[in-house]
Amino acid sequence: MGIKDGIIFDIKKYAIHDGPGIRTTVFLKGCPLQCFWCHNPEGINPDPELIYQSNRCLEDCSDCISVCQNEALSKQNNSIFINRKKCALSGKCADICPTEALRIIGRKISVLELILEIEKDRIFFDQSKGGVTFSGGEPLMQPKFLSALLEECQNRNIHTVVDTCGYTPFRNLAEIKDKVDLFLYDLKIMDEKKHKDITGTSNRVILENLKNLSKLKKKIIIRIPLIANLNDTEKNIRQTAEFLKSLGNIKDINLLPYHKIGTGKYKNLKRKAYGPEIKTPLDEKINKIKIKFTNYGFNVKIGG
Ligand code: SF4
Ligand code: SF4
Repeated sequence: MGIKDGIIFDIKKYAIHDGPGIRTTVFLKGCPLQCFWCHNPEGINPDPELIYQSNRCLEDCSDCISVCQNEALSKQNNSIFINRKKCALSGKCADICPTEALRIIGRKISVLELILEIEKDRIFFDQSKGGVTFSGGEPLMQPKFLSALLEECQNRNIHTVVDTCGYTPFRNLAEIKDKVDLFLYDLKIMDEKKHKDITGTSNRVILENLKNLSKLKKKIIIRIPLIANLNDTEKNIRQTAEFLKSLGNIKDINLLPYHKIGTGKYKNLKRKAYGPEIKTPLDEKINKIKIKFTNYGFNVKIGG
């Protein structure tokens, strides 16, 4: 795959929570973190995947089994079993499935193909001061592809947002910094050990990258997913506010209370949803957190 090709797993049109105006959000596949509350677990694996939703499957159908030349599918207890060792991801079963019970998540696409898709929405961007948002997964997992896309958008005067977890070598951020109009930068928790426990990685690189990006005076909105009893504690909110204040150029924070949208997807991917039971903080708590950040001088919004 050349630098002009990448793997995406979704394109969301008319998005209104991923930056200013009406936006087209492109989800690039692959993420270096494994946050246990992830809403897009289908974005974690950098490669395309075959997923199966048993509740969509028809009892008297076996079309997918007949079409699979690799004999990777079988029916067990009225459900399709995928032998992933045999599956070559041809997508033939997904193409023939009448109910989309089988789907391939992730497709290769060239920069030009994707730009032409984005261009279809230009009228909405122009009317609403919107543009395109690159999200994921983690878009910086495909740094060359992302950089080429941003360059093309810049040449075409399309406003660009990159939604990042910040876990990438800084050279990748440095490469794109002048092609991005706004960064949405996710911060989970300040305690390094807890960060490792809940995402699988240390937060050192993430915090260091944010410091360096701030020094370059880039426009950044911080996004904090709020999970009850995990990162909504007094201590974490204070540490986060003090850290952000020390950076000098951060003005905006979006608080994103956890919601359960992604939980069914784990089953479809045959991936274990791990970690303790996840809960949304109570509204009262969310409002208190908003006031705390506001008192530090930030503009705070609940939601994206
Ligand atoms: S994707 Fe292709 S190889 Fe894999 S199960 Fe479906 S038909 Fe078989
Ligand atoms: S083709 Fe679709 S509906 Fe038919 S058995 Fe396969 S998964 Fe189920």
